[in-house]
Amino acid sequence: MQVPLLDLKLQYAPLRNLIQARIAEVCDSQIFCLGPKVVELETALAEYCGSPFVFGTSSGTDAQLVILMAAGVGPGDAVITTPYTFFATAGCIARVGAIPIFADIDPATYNLDPVKVREYLETRCHHDADGALVNEAGLTLKMIIPVHLFGCCAEMNAFRAIGEEYKLHVMEDAAQSIGAEYKFADGTVGRSGSMTESSYFSFYPTKNLGAFGDAGMVTCRDAGLAARIDALRNHGMAPRYYHSLIGGNFRMDAIQAVVLQAKLPYLDEWSVARHDNAARYRSLFTEAGLLEHITLPVEPHAGHDLKHHHIYNQYVIRTQRRDELKAHLQAQRIGCEIYYPLSLHEQECFLWLGNKKGDFPESERAADETLALPIFPELTVAQQEVVVAAVRSFFS
Ligand SMILES: *Cc1c(COP(=O)(O)O)cnc(C)c1O
Repeated sequence: MQVPLLDLKLQYAPLRNLIQARIAEVCDSQIFCLGPKVVELETALAEYCGSPFVFGTSSGTDAQLVILMAAGVGPGDAVITTPYTFFATAGCIARVGAIPIFADIDPATYNLDPVKVREYLETRCHHDADGALVNEAGLTLKMIIPVHLFGCCAEMNAFRAIGEEYKLHVMEDAAQSIGAEYKFADGTVGRSGSMTESSYFSFYPTKNLGAFGDAGMVTCRDAGLAARIDALRNHGMAPRYYHSLIGGNFRMDAIQAVVLQAKLPYLDEWSVARHDNAARYRSLFTEAGLLEHITLPVEPHAGHDLKHHHIYNQYVIRTQRRDELKAHLQAQRIGCEIYYPLSLHEQECFLWLGNKKGDFPESERAADETLALPIFPELTVAQQEVVVAAVRSFFS
């Protein structure tokens, strides 16, 4: 039996008529860029994630870019993030002229390790005569961008504390984590996209809430920042054809907005189905006696009474024989993928930053050992059994 890594046709089939009718409305309206359908989606998502200001954008990447621009991050600045994430997280930092500073990950969750971030700030940075936080190279520290990788929130309690202590803007990269929840030490529950100063989602088709093309969303808390984002998203234009800021075309289009609005009511049940699939993998892999060979994803926020403590955008296992296992699964037509095979500090385009192999050992080890298995909501028990049997046949 063939098991795809993801089969979007299964999600589309029951929603086909609804979505096609909504797209037809956009066609009839002939209003395609921003407009009332985008505003409707923004309103729904503001409520969904609990964030006061929400802006639809052309992609997740553009959402991150426009936040960095609006926050005034640029040449002479540095932003701390993880080397183990999709490229965009660090790419956008460099695109605005700032320097990405990497800190290593927690090997259990693969998320940016707040201990490593604090260590960097304590040992490699100081406050200059004007009170600015600068590093050894004289760059001004502006932001920290933790990524809620694979759908599991980073340790936001610690990041919030570091942000407050060092007066750094914390931006959540929530591209893979829409709907994920987190419980703070004071008992309050945060939702991905609303826990810090700013955040962004991606609606790339393979994300848990996927568009029919590229789309993304900015969320933020501060009205001033929100006003700049709103303007920058549309060439800094306000009023029409008058430009006080240099922005870009980061507009969401109405067809993506209606597709996302049609899917949004189902998002929570899809997340629950993904989580149920993860629970089933755990029992199947345990019964198969495979836990000495592979490491399953951890659920650090389980047991906190949260329904969506992990939304499993990806189900990622690890093994030292990863490349062989991947080849074995692919030969049996089981979809699997490596997220991500090379840490960002080792990417060719970032070598000039001066990092080298060995600088972020946990990230490098994860890049060598992780493998994503099918976890999509419509995955059947029989398909999961096939996946587990194939993993077992590899190790036996
Ligand atoms: C998908 C993704 C992005 C970029 O989003 P796009 O919509 O593809 O531009 C950024 N960061 C992470 C972690 C992602 O997974």
